[in-house]
Amino acid sequence: MKRILVILSILFTSQPAIAGPIDLTYYLPEGTSYNPDIPTPEAFFGFQIGQWHLRHDLTVAYMKELAARSDRISIQTYARSYEQRELLLLTITSPENHQNIETIQQQHTQLSDPNQSTTLTPNTMPVVVYMGYSIHGNEPSGGNAAPIVAYHLAAAQSAAIDSLLQNAVILLDPVFNPDGFNRFAHWANTHKGKHVNADPAHREHNEVWPGGRTNHYWFDLNRDWLLLQHPESQGRVAQFHAWKPNILTDHHEMGTNRTFFFQPGIPSRNYPLTPERNYELTAAIAKHHAEALNNIQSLYYTKESYDDFYIGKGSTYPDLNGGVGILFEQASSRGHIQESIHGPLSFPFTIRNHVRASLSTLKAAAELRTDLLDHQRTFYAEAVQEANKSRIKAYVFGDASDPARTHHFIHLLQQHQIQVHELARPLTPSGQTFAPGSAYVISTQQPQYRLLTAMFERRTTFQDSLFYDVSAWTLPLAFNMPFAELTTSSQEFIGDKVQPTQMPQGRLIGNSNAYAYAFEWKGYYAPRALYRLQKAGVIAKVATQPFRIQTAEGTRAFDYGTILITMGIQSISPQAIQTLIDLTAQEDALDIYALETGLVTSGISLGSPNFAPLQKPEIAILIGDGTTSSNAGETWHLLDQRYDMDVSLIEARYINSSTLSRYNTIVMAGGSYSTLDSLKRSTLKQWTRAGNTLIAYDSAAQWAVRNKFVNTTFVQTDAKKTQDQKPYGNASNDQGAQVIGGAIFQVQVDRTHPLAYGYENNTLPVFRRGTTFLEPTKNAYATPLIYTHRPLLSGYISNPNLTRLRDSAATIAGKQGSGRVILMTDNPSFRAYWYGTQKLLANALFFGSTIKGNTLQSEE
Ligand SMILES: [Zn+2]
Repeated sequence: MKRILVILSILFTSQPAIAGPIDLTYYLPEGTSYNPDIPTPEAFFGFQIGQWHLRHDLTVAYMKELAARSDRISIQTYARSYEQRELLLLTITSPENHQNIETIQQQHTQLSDPNQSTTLTPNTMPVVVYMGYSIHGNEPSGGNAAPIVAYHLAAAQSAAIDSLLQNAVILLDPVFNPDGFNRFAHWANTHKGKHVNADPAHREHNEVWPGGRTNHYWFDLNRDWLLLQHPESQGRVAQFHAWKPNILTDHHEMGTNRTFFFQPGIPSRNYPLTPERNYELTAAIAKHHAEALNNIQSLYYTKESYDDFYIGKGSTYPDLNGGVGILFEQASSRGHIQESIHGPLSFPFTIRNHVRASLSTLKAAAELRTDLLDHQRTFYAEAVQEANKSRIKAYVFGDASDPARTHHFIHLLQQHQIQVHELARPLTPSGQTFAPGSAYVISTQQPQYRLLTAMFERRTTFQDSLFYDVSAWTLPLAFNMPFAELTTSSQEFIGDKVQPTQMPQGRLIGNSNAYAYAFEWKGYYAPRALYRLQKAGVIAKVATQPFRIQTAEGTRAFDYGTILITMGIQSISPQAIQTLIDLTAQEDALDIYALETGLVTSGISLGSPNFAPLQKPEIAILIGDGTTSSNAGETWHLLDQRYDMDVSLIEARYINSSTLSRYNTIVMAGGSYSTLDSLKRSTLKQWTRAGNTLIAYDSAAQWAVRNKFVNTTFVQTDAKKTQDQKPYGNASNDQGAQVIGGAIFQVQVDRTHPLAYGYENNTLPVFRRGTTFLEPTKNAYATPLIYTHRPLLSGYISNPNLTRLRDSAATIAGKQGSGRVILMTDNPSFRAYWYGTQKLLANALFFGSTIKGNTLQSEE
């Protein structure tokens, strides 16, 4: 018995050691009685929380059971993950409030509308708190705390809980990232023995690639609150705006040797458009966390880590929406128990801190209720006042050549409650042309002025030179969307409000019984269209020069990169092609022209050798140990979800000449490629030399240069030896300032090069993180994208790095035997929202094989 107690005390406690068996009372505040009709987690699961990692389906079942049993709780499924797991939202409040919930919700959201908020009386309204857990799936203590918090709110019986539920509407989102959460639960449970093992080397504590942090496509969902590229975030942000919570909590884990962190974060790194009042409220809320953790003698810290700069994180997005986001970070046991500098760190201990921080948040919300509601009302009233003073009165935007990309941009704005209007008459600000039908206007005179400004602004000066995440996210630049700031306030160019719409459709122009079909490469879904045709067996060519030809709507110019399908050389039936063409025009939002003749009015004829034949790409992405899962996942997601392409994910360490033989294109999306030994490197080189295309971007480009896949050099650093003494205490800040954590730069584009087909301008915004700087090639045709001399568009870069970046290479096409290697220094599909540069990757996939040998950088 004594031995059991010793084991239990190691198991369920740490810092400081509290003896005792695991019991629900360990987690919950002392002295509360609970309604026996509500099942405890242990009664429902058959084990106590913390003994095993909860599978997501068990969480779902328990939450539904609570909602069925308790008149304090209603539940809804607001989205499904890629793997079809339910994303749940529990609405928890008093039974009286539930009777009246629609009115409460309506009044609450009116606080965010200055036209309606003045007549409301915040001191009579409930506060709204959104509590969300484990957006990083392998940070499981939050998601395992959620059922205990829900149980407490369903079953606790006291005057205090009655008062809380009367004065608050609690929206509980038990698991933000069900796919990652389940991946990690499976991992941790799989490796748990009868005797739990705290050894950090034990396999339980060392997940295999890609780990459980991310969602199905290996995206960090806690960067997607602004970008909304995934169903989890889209559903969640819709709920967010349906309620506009006053506090939103975001429960995470950090390194095992840390303690517990709660916001405020580092003050010098606050996002400048967030009002100061937000930080005052954050600090007022923090006092309650401190008190709760003092009570259980848990260590914690605040203000020394993390920041509120990048507004696409869960703890920062609310700050730009009239609420207060709170980040919690708990040292991770990363499994059931793990040794730490504070002694054995048990899973239950980590769960308990999140339970207590959840309850302290609710206590704070009740106490600060009127302050929080006042803040929300004032936030929006002041936003409109700021908008009235703003130099920028409106933004106009739109890409007439690409309705699909324009549609996705509008849809993103609308999901953030930003009002978009039709353009009522043509405008030509600063030499650009915007026309009704393809261009749109956003007035800055709207409640979401601050968020709108945060999405459109270009910022190049900063109070701090360190960032927890990216320093820039300017959305029209990411979308490569033509846009302009308008400084004159005029109602005459603002047309009807744009309602959320379906994807636009393209048209077939001309008769179906054609000599040939042609479509330009400018539409976002042109790669999907081409692949759809190729997969069906249609033979397609690409125009390597422009041409002009008669169409059913008069003569028309076709640009570099136009896709041509000539009917005389096809082996599948004209009817089958016709059906595909119709489908492609509709679904891929492309205008497709039926052409009656091969004779052009200028440029290349349809039978010209300047139409290059295209091969269908057979693609593998190298993944696994030594590769960067986020980059690989972005490529997989782009090809699979957006372009509807077949793609194989191949473990880098398993490649050999026979596995590679079925592919003509391999993507290396970033990483150290430490599993590619000299034998595998030479296999990969031989495969390339046989006439195939190797695409390497981000850190993979660095790898390819080092391993002599391409004959080029890095930009030399101006490494003058310095003996200057520097303060030791500044070391991490000094070094951090040389990091490019993520900023936006301008490159010069050679529109005549196959890697640049589809672009209309000679410059393109690109996203860069990391410090791979390459010299332009000796072959003057082999560097089609090159950084401009003044490349910084938005974000932070140190002066030494800026010097190295200017005029350096962004894309290089190199020769390797009869094959080619395409290097991109930057990630073309960063976080899936870089709609502007994704086409660079598509060009490498579809047109890489058409690049002429004499224009490639030669081998050594
Ligand atoms: Zn996290």
